[in-house]
Amino acid sequence: MKTIPVLLAGMLAGGALPAQQAPAPSSGVRYPRLVIRNATVIDGAGNPARGPFDITVQNGRISAISRTGATAPTADRVIDATGMYVMPGIIDLHGHIQFHPGGGRGGDTYPKDYVYKLWLAHGITTVRDPGSGEGLDTVLNHTRLSHDNRISAPTILPYVTFDGPQTADSVRALVRSYKARGAAGLKVFIQRPDIYDALLSEAKAINLPVAVDLKIQETDAMFVARRDVRTIEHWYGIPDAAIPGPQDFPDYYVYDNELDRFRWGGDLWRQADSARLSALLDTMVAHQVTWDPTFAVYEANRDLTRARNLPWFRDYALPPLMKFFEPNLSNHGSYHLDWTTADEVMWRENYKIWMRWVREYARRGGNVTVGSDAGFIYHLFGFATVREMELHQEAGFHPIEVIQQATRNGAIALGLANTGVIRPGFEADLAVVDGNPLHNLKVLYGLGVDVVENGRMVRRGGVKYTIKDGVVFDAPKLLEDVAAMVREAKAKTSAP
Ligand SMILES: [Zn+2]
Repeated sequence: MKTIPVLLAGMLAGGALPAQQAPAPSSGVRYPRLVIRNATVIDGAGNPARGPFDITVQNGRISAISRTGATAPTADRVIDATGMYVMPGIIDLHGHIQFHPGGGRGGDTYPKDYVYKLWLAHGITTVRDPGSGEGLDTVLNHTRLSHDNRISAPTILPYVTFDGPQTADSVRALVRSYKARGAAGLKVFIQRPDIYDALLSEAKAINLPVAVDLKIQETDAMFVARRDVRTIEHWYGIPDAAIPGPQDFPDYYVYDNELDRFRWGGDLWRQADSARLSALLDTMVAHQVTWDPTFAVYEANRDLTRARNLPWFRDYALPPLMKFFEPNLSNHGSYHLDWTTADEVMWRENYKIWMRWVREYARRGGNVTVGSDAGFIYHLFGFATVREMELHQEAGFHPIEVIQQATRNGAIALGLANTGVIRPGFEADLAVVDGNPLHNLKVLYGLGVDVVENGRMVRRGGVKYTIKDGVVFDAPKLLEDVAAMVREAKAKTSAP
C-alpha cells in the first residue's frame, strides 16, 4: 500500500464525503497473491524489453520477477499475459480532476468517475492534479477513497492552486496553511517576482514542491529555476527568459484575450535567443527542475481539423465537454475563432523549435515528463496522455525513453521513490498491454489499432489490465462504463 504521509495527515480531518460527491464503488480487486504470467516487460528505467517473465505481486508490491517456466506459480489470481507487454503504470503529471466542463463549479456536470475511469482505462495509475477547480477538500477526499480502493481512480497527488495575498509577508503563512490542509504541492500562475521569491523560499523550507505555469509575465523560468521550483509546466517562461526585452507583440495584443495569447504564444520560440536558452537549460538542470512540456494540449493550434475530429469523441466524450471545446472566448482554451492557415503554419514551426529544446534538455540530463492537461482544447482524458507520448516520440525520443518519461521520470518529479519502475520491492503500478508499445505507442489507445493477423485485419491493442497499487482493474470494462455514461448523457440531451 502506498503511504503518502503528508496527504493522509491532512485528509484525516476531512471527514466523510457527502454521498452525491462520491464516485461509484471501486471495481478493482486486490488479491493476496497475483501473478502476471508470460509477459514481455518494459521496466520503465530505460532498459530494453525483457522476458518472458512472471511478475508476482503481494500486498500491493512486486515481490518477484522470474523467467517464465514450465509450471505456473500458485496464486489467487493469474493474468495470462502471453503475447502482451507489461510496463509501469503511466504517471500523468498534469491531470486536472474535473466534474464540470473546464473545471469550474457551475453548470453541467460529469459523472464523478468519468475522468478517473478514462485515466485508468489507459493504464494511468498516478495523476498529479495541478490544481482542481473542484476544490482541494473534494480532491483530498477522492485521494483518500482511491488510496483505500473505494473508488476506481488512479493514485492522486493533489496540488493546490496558489491564490494568494498580494504582499510577500502574508505569502508564507498561506503556503504553510496549504501544506497543513494536505496539499501535495502548489501550482502557481502569474505572480510578481517578490511574491514568487517569498513563496518559493517558504515552500522550499517546508519541503512543499511547486509547479509553475508562468504564462506571459515578468517572472520567467530563470527566476524560478534559481529558486528551485520543482516543475515547469508547458513551455511558458522558458523562451520568454531568452528573449532580450519583451516579445515582439503586435500592437493590438491584449494578454487577457485568449485568441491573442495563444496565437502569439506560437511565435515565442522563434524569437528566443539560442545562447540564452542554452544558459537557461543549464540552470534548470543544475537546480533539478522537471520540464513537463504538455505538447499535445496545443496540438489543435497546428491542425484544428484533426483536433476537432478525433475518433474517440463519438463514444467517450460527454456532450457538455464537446460543447465546452467549441469556440467561445469565455471558456478557457476555447479560443479557435478565426484560426487561420497562417496560425497553423506558425505553430508547426513553433513545435519544431520547442521539441528540439526539450530533447536538448533531456540530453543535458534534465528530467522530462509526460503530462496531458486534458479537459481543454479538444483533449480527452486518457486518450490525451497517450497522444502526449506520441508527441514525445515526434520530438525525437526513442519509445523506450518515452515510456521512461511517462513512468520513472514522473515518479522522480513527484518524489515517489517506489513506483514508476518494474522492480522487486516497488509498488505494483502496472499496465498490461495487448501489443508492443515500443513498436507502436498507439496500442495504448483505448480504441486499439488495426493489425493484420493471418491475412485478416483485426482490432488489437488497448490496455487490458491496469494494476494500481496491486489492485487489478479490467481496463476495457472501465471504458465500457464510460461509453455507457456517454450514451446515457446523449439520451438525456435528445429526450423531448
Ligand atoms: Zn493545466
